[in-house]
Amino acid sequence: MYIKDDEINKYFNEPNWKVAHNLFQHNTISNMSVIKDGQIYQIVGSTNVNGKIDTATIQVDTGGHILEFNCDCNHCKPNELACGHIGAILLKFYGLEASDLPYSFNQKGNYADQLQALQAKKEAAHLKEQANLTFSLIEQYKNQHRLHQLQLNQHIHLIPQVKSTFNRLSLSYKIANDRSYTIKNLNTFIQNIKANEIVEYGNALVTDHNSKAFDSSSLKQIRFIKEYFHLKDDDRSIRITSDNIDDFFLTHYDNLDININFTTIDLQNFILEIQKDEDYTTIKYKEPDGITIIGHQYIYYFDHYTLNRYSKECSDALRPLLTHLENNSLTIPNNELPHFSKYIIDSVVPYVEFTGDDIDEYLPMDISLLIYVDLNNNNELSVTLDYRDDQGNTILENPKDLVLPLKLDGVIQTLQKYLEYDEITQMYYLYNEEDIYDCSNEEIFIA
Ligand SMILES: [Zn+2]
Repeated sequence: MYIKDDEINKYFNEPNWKVAHNLFQHNTISNMSVIKDGQIYQIVGSTNVNGKIDTATIQVDTGGHILEFNCDCNHCKPNELACGHIGAILLKFYGLEASDLPYSFNQKGNYADQLQALQAKKEAAHLKEQANLTFSLIEQYKNQHRLHQLQLNQHIHLIPQVKSTFNRLSLSYKIANDRSYTIKNLNTFIQNIKANEIVEYGNALVTDHNSKAFDSSSLKQIRFIKEYFHLKDDDRSIRITSDNIDDFFLTHYDNLDININFTTIDLQNFILEIQKDEDYTTIKYKEPDGITIIGHQYIYYFDHYTLNRYSKECSDALRPLLTHLENNSLTIPNNELPHFSKYIIDSVVPYVEFTGDDIDEYLPMDISLLIYVDLNNNNELSVTLDYRDDQGNTILENPKDLVLPLKLDGVIQTLQKYLEYDEITQMYYLYNEEDIYDCSNEEIFIA
């Protein structure tokens, strides 16, 4: 609908027109009707501001001229100065289309209608949901009834299968009787075990997941699944990680159905590359082609469908170093090399191969120790230590500067427990006779 701008300017002052916008924006028009009477629109409308109702009548012609207006409030001078109520009603009138006429609006009635429509819609949705629920309950009972008619199988067997993809090992299962079926969701399987749920895996296999129906090897698998299905790779497989590989090995190495072999050999397939620079020596791990998994107890290696477990000695010796080298190389300051060799290289050397720069010079010297014991006239016991190199030659350096092999550390420690060391003569002495007796009962002089 249309009203000339001039007409607004003519009948409204600025404050009233501002009030009009305000009233319109806050939806204060509670009811309004418009009819077209020849070339004239007859408009009646009321506003409701906090319960105060004002009613106005306005006539506008089709050319957009305001012909008459009146409002029951005291801001309005009929046909002279229009109030905010009249303005609000005219603003709503602007928004109407010719096709809206005759127009009738009642805010209260409208809300009620809308509310009713909404409730009806909700009710319909609720009824539909109830119908679906009923349907699925019927289906569930129908299915249960059908399953109870079926013969349950005994001697059910789980077949574990290991898969390796992209440096990951995962484990899935088949459930088998005369025929085998893949267990597609391990979580559901465990829930079925808990609830003794009857499931028809196929024509040849129906079970209520009662533990009595499974053979003993399968019960072991079920325990394993229960414990580790949270480490799932996807719904049907458990990932084999450092957290469960020790248990996996123990639970599966005697399994006759599993598709991999198990061995326990110290394979010597780990290669450490040594590079010596002026101040630092770098050690890098050259990863073998298979998958290495460092468990909490043992180290494992998987390749060609064989899972190998290294000995406990080997695993203990390699674990801290390998755990580090798996991700980063190690840079050792050269002044730490003698101790690095004594404690670390010496421990790992039986199990790994070293390549790169020659490491012989870093290894602890093959030192042997000769111990001379002498008892003088004063009943004083003196002990002289003679360090020999691998050629049998006496080492003349100060023994304190030598990095001794670990096994000699023990001997020296025991000596120091009983004897006093003299820096000048580089000998150990024992003065007290009783101590001599105690000391010789210890087996320290056999070195
Ligand atoms: Zn008014």
